[in-house]
Amino acid sequence: MSHSCKILQTSAENIDLCVDLLRDGVVLGVPTETVYGLAGNALKEESVRRIFEVKGRPLLDPLIVHFSSIKQAEAHVEFNERARALAAQFWPGALTLVLRKKDTISDLVTAGLPSVAVRIPGHPIFRKLLERLEFPLAAPSANPFGYVSPTLAEHVAATLGDRVIAVLDGGACEYGVESTIADLRNPDTPTILRPGPLSAEQLGMQSVEVEQPSNKTAQPAPGMLSLHYSPNTPIMLFRHGERPSCVQKSEAVLYNTKPAADKLAENIFWLSESGDLKEIAHNLFTLIQKLDVRGYTQLQVERAENVDIGIAVNDRLIRAAAKR
Ligand code: AMP
Ligand code: MG
Repeated sequence: MSHSCKILQTSAENIDLCVDLLRDGVVLGVPTETVYGLAGNALKEESVRRIFEVKGRPLLDPLIVHFSSIKQAEAHVEFNERARALAAQFWPGALTLVLRKKDTISDLVTAGLPSVAVRIPGHPIFRKLLERLEFPLAAPSANPFGYVSPTLAEHVAATLGDRVIAVLDGGACEYGVESTIADLRNPDTPTILRPGPLSAEQLGMQSVEVEQPSNKTAQPAPGMLSLHYSPNTPIMLFRHGERPSCVQKSEAVLYNTKPAADKLAENIFWLSESGDLKEIAHNLFTLIQKLDVRGYTQLQVERAENVDIGIAVNDRLIRAAAKR
């Protein structure tokens, strides 16, 4: 970990400090209810460029822009009625809407697309920053491009600490997986681009089939690359409710639920005592990052039940396990 990145407790003084830094165009790690974000002024080219640079993210992969209110968002995107209804029901929250952008949003933010991904986040600290600022914040996940998303301030400091000066510590992220992204450009055919904490059913949309993605086929939107969310340790998946067929001592096994046994081997881990899906999502990236520095040759991970937030967990696992 680099010592140049400060992990800031969320005192009034530190929030003031972060507001000043963001006004100066600096990019910072911030807590959200999904995963930690790398936030910068969405209307300032220099800050947006810095976000891509810090993450090592290709300019082809567009950013999500975060607003404090629907009124503020209306100045930068074209809402349609369906989008307005979803926003009224689910914002602040873990729902990102892809809508037509207005000219105030630069092509740099959207990778040249005429649409932009937007949301009003629910995390109280992130909201406090947005409410104090005169501009929206672009904020992708605060991890090096392609690596597992950060769910603790320490993850940001450990992976981007030599490139960001500070991360505001809001504790563990509630959901632990990224927001649900819904494409609302055509209100008659809304589609889920990325499964997340809010399910298609909750949003009144068709559910998505998580398929083994391929880098060879055309992607529906930039940024939906197959290999993503990947730790350095290779990941292999096994079916929900089953056991891995063969486990070496050098490998770790991650179950959804704590296995019922008196004595468990040291390389056996679980994401939830009871198998609660929300808890499984909450702990997923945290446990993977913890195990990623332990020198295992492979992580064998159980797929989640493919419902609700389990669909998002499986989406991330499939991408994390994709071959390089
Ligand atoms: P992250 O910032 O890491 O949460 O990733 C944001 C993701 O949002 C990108 O990888 C894209 O898949 C998606 N996204 C952002 N903007 C757009 C857009 N204009 N159209 C479609 N997808 C988008
Ligand atoms: Mg990301």
